[in-house]
Amino acid sequence: MNDQAGVECGACQHWASDRAGQVDFHLPHRDIKATVWRCAFCGTYIQDANLDDPAIRHHFDIASYTAPAMEANWRRLRTDFFKWIIKVSRHHLGRPLSGCHALDIGIAYGIMMELLREEGAEAEGVEIVTALQAAVRSRGFIVHDRIEQASDHRQDLVFAIDSFYYLNDPSRSLTAIRSLMAPDGVLAMRLANRAWYFDFVRKLGQEVAAKRFGDLKYFYTERGARLLLARAGFQVERIYWTDRGRHDPRRLESIFYKLAPLANYLSPVRISPGMLVIARPAA
Ligand SMILES: [Zn+2]
Repeated sequence: MNDQAGVECGACQHWASDRAGQVDFHLPHRDIKATVWRCAFCGTYIQDANLDDPAIRHHFDIASYTAPAMEANWRRLRTDFFKWIIKVSRHHLGRPLSGCHALDIGIAYGIMMELLREEGAEAEGVEIVTALQAAVRSRGFIVHDRIEQASDHRQDLVFAIDSFYYLNDPSRSLTAIRSLMAPDGVLAMRLANRAWYFDFVRKLGQEVAAKRFGDLKYFYTERGARLLLARAGFQVERIYWTDRGRHDPRRLESIFYKLAPLANYLSPVRISPGMLVIARPAA
């Protein structure tokens, strides 16, 4: 075992020992603290709390983005964005979605599944928050607790939109996803892209702020994401650095989203808010 402080990088499997900050998981009766580490090999940032721990999982039951009262708000903020992701995915799949099998990982309110059903796809989903599972099942959708429970070997499209970076063991999850996919299937994975920003604040001598890290497990870099996907048997087809149709409730972030394509064009570092990775099972 490695006795040096740090955590294994889930992206590239190197030992990440560069301490970058601290985050808190606020729970009803206690807070759980975690340390943020940066992987020197691929640049990915990782916090070392185990998100599979039931105590921490409870945090997701009470998070603002899973609260039933917030559903209308999230529909307003995300529907156009999801429509754009479906359009991009259809382009890469190369055929209409009618009759396709689609799996959405981290369905939240089921918005993506509804849009897929409108296009004629047979959609099933994965969600860990039981209240959300129940709500979406009541609308006639199949919702699983775990990725491994989804229908085997025939998913034409797999979506993991702003959910994959919560998965504690990304290698294992990707291997499971790959085994569920049709050989010519398409994986669309949207990841938050904030490692460049954390690198920047650390150059200024500051730690990564807990409120900027939030409750994610990983902030992947492009290098980290590519290494991870290759190891799990995927071939990256394209990465989109602009989020179309994504609305953000916070004013500063909203301005950033509008300026990001220009900044991205001018800067050698990819400084967009996110990356949409399109990948296929490698032959
Ligand atoms: Zn790494």
